Amino acid sequence: MNFNLENNLNWQQQLAGSFANPEELLKFLDLDLSHCTKKKLANIEFPFKVTHSFASRMAKRDIHDPLLAQVLPVTGELDLSHGFSTNPVGDLEATVSPGVLHKYHGRVLLIVTAACAINCRYCFRREFPYRNGSFSPAYEQMGLEYISKNADINEVILSGGDPLMLNDSKLKSLITKIAAIPHIIRLRVHTRLPIVLPSRITAKLIETLSETRLQTVLVLHTNHPNELDREIASAIGQLTDANIPLLNQSVLLKGVNDDSTILIGLSEALFALNILPYYLHLLDKTKGTLHFATALPKAKSIQKRLRQKLPGFLVPRMVWEKPGEAFKLPL
Ligand SMILES: *Cc1c(COP(=O)(O)O)cnc(C)c1O
Ligand code: SF4
Repeated sequence: MNFNLENNLNWQQQLAGSFANPEELLKFLDLDLSHCTKKKLANIEFPFKVTHSFASRMAKRDIHDPLLAQVLPVTGELDLSHGFSTNPVGDLEATVSPGVLHKYHGRVLLIVTAACAINCRYCFRREFPYRNGSFSPAYEQMGLEYISKNADINEVILSGGDPLMLNDSKLKSLITKIAAIPHIIRLRVHTRLPIVLPSRITAKLIETLSETRLQTVLVLHTNHPNELDREIASAIGQLTDANIPLLNQSVLLKGVNDDSTILIGLSEALFALNILPYYLHLLDKTKGTLHFATALPKAKSIQKRLRQKLPGFLVPRMVWEKPGEAFKLPL
């Protein structure tokens, strides 16, 4: 697609024009199609999906590009190693109502949609069954009732999938219903859309997020400084102009960002856009993601280096999730 043309499309049209198979993307990047044969990938069920915006930030003719590595299916996904499961962080046990996870004190997480604008190969939700079912009106009703009945919940997290895949009117209606529950004070939105589909940041969205009595915070998902360019800076600028606090979480990924220099660059690039690093997650042991795993000693040395080189507020908390624990565990 021609990028000047693409700029004139709205986010839903851009989404519809995304790369839907690896061959198309490899062609766009001037890469040999042998990097990805149909036969090799025959057994992979997690669909391929990448926006043109994200692809435009990949280097041409570089099969090791760190953005490409996050989305390109490889044979490593077929390695079904011991200890890598379909329910790595105990989300099934934390489900209190369809699409509602209550794992930590005071916070509930709503899976409001299974859809994302891109499919990250390391995603821990790639195997979770709610990919199939959406947050239907009946489920939404049940979820809101659960929250209403539990007065010790004060924060609702919209997640998925990506909650900003909902259109503005659906989002507004959901936020209005949440705001009607008196004991909820905070709304958190976990989203990668500002990074992979910056056109999603519309005036209407800003209005939806600002015009609520709830205190709203956005937690973005960026793994590599190359994900942040001028187009992203301008989208993020609209959020900061609206005084919406911005945090970022990353996943430590072999071949993408398992390097302290890259992560230092990421923290600096984030803060230049007024985004604070929040979490750096160790990879969840999800089936098909072993090739992204970083060995523990390496993770520890990266953490030490970040502490040596960055001001404390730019060091992301390195954490991992253990089923049954009351919080995400520090390394
Ligand atoms: C990560 C997570 C949260 C939020 O945890 P914080 O440490 O507050 O960021 C809440 N609920 C679930 C199910 C989670 O996985
Ligand atoms: S955007 Fe987040 S939820 Fe969606 S595929 Fe990527 S890691 Fe998974």
